[in-house]
Amino acid sequence: MEERKKPALSTQIFFALVLAVIAGIAFTQYPQFAVIYIKPFGTIFLNLIKWIVCPLVFFSIMAGVVSMRDIRKVGVIGGSTVVYYLFTTAFAVAIGLLFANLFKGFFPVLSTSDLAYEPSATSVNFMDTLVNIFPSNFVKPFVDANMLQIIVASLFVGFALILISDRHDTDFAAVNIANDICMKAMEMILKLSPIGVFCLLCPVIAENGPAVLGSLAKVLLVAYICYVIHAVVVYSLAVKSMGGVSPVTFFKGMMPAIIMAFSSASSVGTLPLNLECAEKLGADKEVASFVLPLGATINMDGTAIYQGVCSVFIASCFGISLTFPQMLTIVLTATLASIGTAGVPGAGMIMLAMVLESVGLPVEGIALVAGVDRIFDMGRTVVNITGDASCAIVVSNLQRKREKRKG
Ligand code: ASP
Repeated sequence: MEERKKPALSTQIFFALVLAVIAGIAFTQYPQFAVIYIKPFGTIFLNLIKWIVCPLVFFSIMAGVVSMRDIRKVGVIGGSTVVYYLFTTAFAVAIGLLFANLFKGFFPVLSTSDLAYEPSATSVNFMDTLVNIFPSNFVKPFVDANMLQIIVASLFVGFALILISDRHDTDFAAVNIANDICMKAMEMILKLSPIGVFCLLCPVIAENGPAVLGSLAKVLLVAYICYVIHAVVVYSLAVKSMGGVSPVTFFKGMMPAIIMAFSSASSVGTLPLNLECAEKLGADKEVASFVLPLGATINMDGTAIYQGVCSVFIASCFGISLTFPQMLTIVLTATLASIGTAGVPGAGMIMLAMVLESVGLPVEGIALVAGVDRIFDMGRTVVNITGDASCAIVVSNLQRKREKRKG
């Protein structure tokens, strides 16, 4: 008898997505059932992802660093990566703000009298942010899941390993084994993603089904227009001009990772698949294993777009018009906020609070978009991971050229 082949994970996830929509609509009369009995299984899936994310980022960045075996090379590649990430992210917020302002007339002014609005002068203290990147305790970053501190720790340990490498060559192998174990554990968790996606999405639709069709549909549409424009314009230009890959090949090759990101809403969860796609598209393994985990934590163009669009939306719901300096502040804080956002579902919405606060907008406004955050999140995660992969391809190509020049 012919053996039946299991459909690919991305196909399974896609079916889970469709089933979740159908079941969600069926449960709109009894949303409590979906929330009480289905959602917890989605939460288990998310918990597992959160559990593995810290060691995964720690070891994969360290493995990327030690595979270069040269601190200066890490500096050059790290420098190009961070510059690429910062520019594309700032551009992303700007697109979000521009389009949200263009479509502002379509956003409703809600009767929000019960949500008190008091302009505040709170601003992000950059020196504190800087100091907080450096951990004062070895295990605390892991306990708090503080990604920036984990990155700093993994860089330090990675550098130290390179420096002692003459004496202990086997240490490199140890790091790679630890990294492989984390990747494998992540892969096992991801096998559950069709169930996870179903259980997370079904209650959202059961609770918000008809509401999604209301005014929120407009702000969602604006965000999705920006996602598409940013991905098509910025990444196509980047991979074509600096990465030497045609945009069509790029997006085609990225499809499995894109589907995974759309359904899981997690950059970190998409990391293994993203590594595979980026390498197939020509990114070097050593560059990709450094740039992609870093990107899954600090590069969030989709999240930045979402924060720009939602700031304008929330402001107009409260009848507030943003000034130009306020918009510049939003570009700056949203860029920083997206750096501090963990690549897990819903993280961007929490960081939206920081952006709103920076310009004195009412944080309670988040409640207006929270119900459909998942739908924003699916799109923004696609943009986030596509940006990471484009960076891996560009940096690999630039590095190859640099090495060729050196002979
Ligand atoms: N879910 C997003 C990601 O994993 C982060 C966010 O919530 O914006 O990339």
